[in-house]
Amino acid sequence: MEEIFYRGALAILIIAFFIIRAPSVISASKTEKTEEKKQTRERLLVLLNFIGMMGIPFVYILTPWLDFFSYSFPEFFRFFGIGFNICGFILLIWVHRTLGQHWSMMLKLGEEHKLVTTGPYARIRHPMYTYFTIMAISTALISANLFVGVFGIAAWTLLYIIRIDDEEDMLLEEFGEEYSEYMKRTGRLIPKLR
Ligand code: SAH
Repeated sequence: MEEIFYRGALAILIIAFFIIRAPSVISASKTEKTEEKKQTRERLLVLLNFIGMMGIPFVYILTPWLDFFSYSFPEFFRFFGIGFNICGFILLIWVHRTLGQHWSMMLKLGEEHKLVTTGPYARIRHPMYTYFTIMAISTALISANLFVGVFGIAAWTLLYIIRIDDEEDMLLEEFGEEYSEYMKRTGRLIPKLR
């Protein structure tokens, strides 16, 4: 398959991601939230991820500037990356439908925040982050470009590692026993094996 096919596919997947997320971004901006936790840090991490998952991939898609970092990679893996991301979309749509108004880009709680434990949240505590992991890996596979792949995976890993404990501490503080019980029966990114 021609290189242009993979660049086009990656562009479509990134745009589709924004379209899937748009309704939640709009409704989240209308619901009252408490103050953001660790605001500056969170904003920097989200910006870094925006650059890593969208900005740099688009430089790769639209210009030859990153071609130096491209390597030859079996077509199968690049193709697999496309399918993997599309499967991820099913999860992402399910997550947004389940989390609804409780979603937010930064760490915060709504005025009447409820603990969601249904849909993908029944077995996994952070299914949206599962999707981001899928997205980072699939972008690396589809692009077959070292710069795009390493930057995206590193930016996402950094955000995940730095945020995850604070997010769980925030939810533990808010929901107490209910959340600690919920933690016992769920896994962070993949279902807990019983
Ligand atoms: N970490 C989750 C949600 C990401 S959106 C996931 O990966 O699916 C981030 C916001 O979701 C946090 O600010 C928090 O307020 C909220 N949140 C996370 N888990 C939640 C849950 N089980 N129920 C309700 N809100 C939750």
